[in-house]
Amino acid sequence: MAAADAKGRPLGVRLVRCPQCGGESPWNAANKWRPFCSERCKMIDLGAWASESYRVPVQENTIDPLTEPPSGE
Ligand SMILES: [Zn+2]
Repeated sequence: MAAADAKGRPLGVRLVRCPQCGGESPWNAANKWRPFCSERCKMIDLGAWASESYRVPVQENTIDPLTEPPSGE
């Protein structure tokens, strides 16, 4: 079937909202970036997630010798 709707999109293709840009993204085998609309949106989202995941906790017990108070006296 080559039927299409008024906007030229093929019928029967489920459209989902791209989590990254909010645009329409076709949910089918042809869209390997789904639910994102494009590789760019997927990479942006994964990058944001990875930067959160790999955030290194601040070392609270690191002593800077230059800030230590002088001993004695
Ligand atoms: Zn997008």
